[in-house]
Amino acid sequence: MQIIKTVKELRSVVKSAKKEGKTVGFVPTMGFLHDGHMSLVDYAKKDNDFVVVSIFVNPTQFGENEDLDAYPRDVEGDTRKLENRDVDVLFFPSVEEMYPHGYSTYVNVEGEMTGVLCGSSRPGHFKGVATIVTKLFNMVSPDNAYFGQKDAQQVSVIERMVRDLNMDLNIIPCPIFREEDGLAMSSRNTYLSEQERKDALVLSQSLFEAKNRIEQGERISKKIIDGIVDKIKTIDYAIIDYVEIVDALTLNKIETLEGEILIALAVKVGKPRLIDNMRLEV
Ligand code: AMP
Repeated sequence: MQIIKTVKELRSVVKSAKKEGKTVGFVPTMGFLHDGHMSLVDYAKKDNDFVVVSIFVNPTQFGENEDLDAYPRDVEGDTRKLENRDVDVLFFPSVEEMYPHGYSTYVNVEGEMTGVLCGSSRPGHFKGVATIVTKLFNMVSPDNAYFGQKDAQQVSVIERMVRDLNMDLNIIPCPIFREEDGLAMSSRNTYLSEQERKDALVLSQSLFEAKNRIEQGERISKKIIDGIVDKIKTIDYAIIDYVEIVDALTLNKIETLEGEILIALAVKVGKPRLIDNMRLEV
């Protein structure tokens, strides 16, 4: 595996691979890799001849009071994991390489899609995401790029951006990878104390219970949301940011459950703010 830190070198390596007729798969990450990330890498390896994984903790997608400096990092461990999966390139640029002095250009997906769910509690977050993903796409020129459904809104925003800006690649959404007990894997789970780790299970449990209720015929959004909120409130120190049910494609709130729906939540469990979701066809 080549570890590359500059855009120039990355471009030249990808160009050579393409010259040999190889298809290029790309998995952007912020590192501290877990099996959820690795499942994306496995999809990319399966579909493509040449796989690039990036690790970059992108400052522009963190708000002022968020965990940019504390965000967990382990490049050595990550490198080992990626080498074991036979990844071709790890792109690991510096902040200066990505945002050199004088940097002033941003990509912003406007409207409802970035104003709801995480967009409303993390202003500017998706502008940072759209900008860095655009930059990475321009650097890697992948045929296929892999994103986790764990960040469902991110997938929708990126799909919208790719359509709107006529970007020439496929976005491949990949299923949420969970711990055996149901907790959605996340680099931020490392912040959880032992007790919080146990308590955090209410998030996935509340979603699975909601799924059951919908399968049994419940169609009123508010009733499902109330059920989820009640379950989460059994953990008295958990702070709910949002619990919403939206149309999975437009991210518009819905009152009656039908079609492709997304049940999404964000909850602070101790230090970390955790997100989880479930997508269902009703
Ligand atoms: P991050 O490093 O958190 O920016 O995540 C990098 C990519 O991995 C994003 O596309 C995430 O949606 C995806 N990802 C993170 N956690 C999971 C998970 N538990 N299951 C599937 N994909 C995930």
